[in-house]
Amino acid sequence: MALSGLEIYKLLPKTNCKDCGFPTCLAFAMQIAAKKVELSKCPHVSEQAQVALESASRPPIRLVTIGTDEQKLEIGNETVMFRHEETFYHPTGLAVLLEDTLAEAAFDEQLTQINKLKFERVGQQININLIALKCSSNQENTFTDKVKQALNQSQFPLILMSDNPQLLKSAAILAKDKRPLLYTANKDNWQLFAELAKELSLPLAVKAENLDELADLAQKISQAGVEDLVLDSGTKPLAEKLNDLTQIRRLALKKAYRLFGFPTLAMTSSGDSYQEITEAAVYIAKYAGIVVIKGVSPWEVLPLLTLRQNIYTDPQKPLQVEPKVYEIGQVNEQSPVLVTTNFSLSYYTVEAEVEASRIPAYIISSYAEGLSVLTAWAAEKFTAETITKTLNECGIKEKVKHQEVIIPGYVAVLSGKLEEDSGWKVRVGPKEASGIPAFLRSLKQNIKGD
Ligand code: SF4
Repeated sequence: MALSGLEIYKLLPKTNCKDCGFPTCLAFAMQIAAKKVELSKCPHVSEQAQVALESASRPPIRLVTIGTDEQKLEIGNETVMFRHEETFYHPTGLAVLLEDTLAEAAFDEQLTQINKLKFERVGQQININLIALKCSSNQENTFTDKVKQALNQSQFPLILMSDNPQLLKSAAILAKDKRPLLYTANKDNWQLFAELAKELSLPLAVKAENLDELADLAQKISQAGVEDLVLDSGTKPLAEKLNDLTQIRRLALKKAYRLFGFPTLAMTSSGDSYQEITEAAVYIAKYAGIVVIKGVSPWEVLPLLTLRQNIYTDPQKPLQVEPKVYEIGQVNEQSPVLVTTNFSLSYYTVEAEVEASRIPAYIISSYAEGLSVLTAWAAEKFTAETITKTLNECGIKEKVKHQEVIIPGYVAVLSGKLEEDSGWKVRVGPKEASGIPAFLRSLKQNIKGD
């Protein structure tokens, strides 16, 4: 049972020495109760208190790492059921299934395609995270060869999949420095899998068809000394799987049920690509740590990555770009100047349309706490005063000889006051960014005609 801040405080040394980085022991205790710091930050806790506080300071869902270096995937360690309560911290890992029965050329082609599943969206790179390599051949050598090939040709960490721990052992040894996830221990093979995972210090997926069996298995494997587990309640119809994922999360967070205090894994079951995307989207939203899909086409993967990026963005910190002057194309001192807010989506939408127009231009992203144009205007963060301040301070005056700025059509109402305040001529641009190319082209014609 979780302890309150005051209960934790009673067990701390109460010297307020600040060695933990907090001004008082009480402040530290409150942070432990909120699961925001680890008890180990206080070097003065007695052994007795450590035992008593261990469960209070342990995160309700263990953080499990798969892979190494920049490509590593961290899952778990979530603290809330709903994103708006705080935020979600560790984005669902998207894994693509690859079978070792594919002929060498086809396997090679699939790997090449998987390696390309990286995209840029609102200034961030989004990509898949794992290759789920399945031993469908039941041949140790075939599987090991394909693992070697995947390790050589791809940076993505691996999930090594087989029900047979003996078959999987040499592949696990081969890949162990890259910290693959072993998949999957069940009620029949768990002892051998637990031994292997412990020997190689690798994370282990545990699978059972119902939650009681899953808890039982998680307990046995934890007691056998494997700490990093990933839970899978089996492949089943979407509604049932959703129910399982929700129950596991609720029990871990609301009831501090330790046996479900691990991240989860869900595999899609549908053979239809559109249904598979729907299924995977549901699991990303609630509450899979890893989702394994079969589709490898960009049109199948990109919507899932976009959804994940949206869900795992801190709702209190909108994605922002640096407020400054951006140069698009070969600008010169006559190039048009557009202004928008520093909300990433607004900025990148405008940037894409300016690029599409092929007319070099400056875009000023004016600081508006990362809000979109209309929201920022309504919240008085994107006003004649703030735009004037930006025009005066961003350095655009040194870059252009004219004093003419284009504002978004939705805030046309600002134009009079902005002209008065800034001394710049204001042109009202289109309401939708999609109108920017035509707008810039007509502007160029007018300037030529003048
Ligand atoms: Fe208190 Fe320990 Fe922090 Fe010192 S380091 S202030 S004793 S909690």
